[in-house]
Amino acid sequence: MRKTTVTVALAVASMWPSSSYAWGVSAHRYIMRRAIELLPPSIKPFFEANRDELVVRVLDPDLWRSVGWDEDANHFVDFGVKEYGDYPFKELPREYDTALEKFGMATLKRNGLLPWREAEEFGNLRRAMQSFGRDAAFAGIETVLFAAVAAHYIQDAHQPLHATNNYDGQLTGQHGVHARFESALFDRYESRLTITPPPVKAIVAPRDTAFEVLLASYRLVDTVLAADKAAVAGKEEYDDEYFDRFFAAVKPVLEQRLGESISATAGLIVGAWERAGRPKLKLQSPRPIQKVRKPAAVAARW
Ligand SMILES: [Zn+2]
Repeated sequence: MRKTTVTVALAVASMWPSSSYAWGVSAHRYIMRRAIELLPPSIKPFFEANRDELVVRVLDPDLWRSVGWDEDANHFVDFGVKEYGDYPFKELPREYDTALEKFGMATLKRNGLLPWREAEEFGNLRRAMQSFGRDAAFAGIETVLFAAVAAHYIQDAHQPLHATNNYDGQLTGQHGVHARFESALFDRYESRLTITPPPVKAIVAPRDTAFEVLLASYRLVDTVLAADKAAVAGKEEYDDEYFDRFFAAVKPVLEQRLGESISATAGLIVGAWERAGRPKLKLQSPRPIQKVRKPAAVAARW
């Protein structure tokens, strides 16, 4: 009985690649760190002062999955599934309510919720920034939290294999390509990458931007899969030579998507700040003063 449970659990776990933490740990952190450099002078000091925490927290949404929270679907959209039609997948409404009504929650969750999650966390970030204006006690810590979290999802959207139903090459006999692309290549060849982020544009429509980013990712899927296939041709295992070949073929894709991911991360923070009314992001949290309540005020509630 117990054995069966374990077997089933393992089978379920193996359906999603264990390291499908888009970009892996090092790349997410790298993207976050470089995005802070691109922020405008009016908000950069706040993010520089909180750099270490942002660089750690950008991983949080992946860890929520490990904790056991209902989080998986927020990290991808499986373009390519029959119900969404052909590129550019107009069968999937961009409006959440319309998409929900059309497909139902089970289908939407199975195929991924990333753009709507992005919009939700962008809103959280905007409101956290707005709360600086009210001297809210948690304005600073929440701005850091939501900047990191909102950043995570837009970073995921730039990873081509987070925009396809063939996310681990499982439909084309290329199992494990997800981690080979997003983690192994970055970890092995980081020093050989030349990453030049394009100019930062403020993102003010996070849901639509996430859809555009995912569509651009989808257009790169065939390149990544073809490179993986060619690199392993005639081999029994994914050895150093395989990785050298794979890297040589997808280096431009990797550099382009990492660069764009850095700019989008900065653009998201700038956009939320603009939508928040450009508040001053104070480095010191105010120390709230609690007033002594008068007994009458307490009594009035009974
Ligand atoms: Zn993720």
